[in-house]
Amino acid sequence: MESYYAALTYTDTLENDNDHIMVKLQLHGEKESVTINARIDSGPTEDFIDREVCNKHGIKMIRSKNHREIYLADGKPSAMGPVTHMTKVPMDISSHRELATFQVANLENHEVILGMPWLRVHNPTIDWNDKRITFNSKRCTTWCLKSSPLAYAVPEDKALEENLITRFS
Ligand SMILES: [Zn+2]
Repeated sequence: MESYYAALTYTDTLENDNDHIMVKLQLHGEKESVTINARIDSGPTEDFIDREVCNKHGIKMIRSKNHREIYLADGKPSAMGPVTHMTKVPMDISSHRELATFQVANLENHEVILGMPWLRVHNPTIDWNDKRITFNSKRCTTWCLKSSPLAYAVPEDKALEENLITRFS
């Protein structure tokens, strides 16, 4: 079977403390939704989710055609791999919504890692000092951001009926 490499180059040592940020997000599994803190890091060549998180919250895993070995920064294969499954799960970060694609791995210290593929697709502006993420790419403002300055009118008869139902239920 053909193998692909996914490089996982993050380290938790002090000198690399400023090359990543943590962000709160919601994953909407089939069983339930869960709020977790994910790592945004430009090091990893894939976006990863922990297998345990998938099992626990009913996030459906799909068997991949090709298995991927995970290599660490030092070139050694990681104990986390190989990656045999992927998943697609609705994910919210603040008002930013997407159907996220992840490689499933046994992450030891993280639940979700948003790596280079995610950074490339959404191309957010990250203020590393203020630890702030702004989704201002054309893709995000067009497709991902669900808050909108627009409010839609409800037809009057429907509006009154809904209010009555609310009042008497
Ligand atoms: Zn986006």
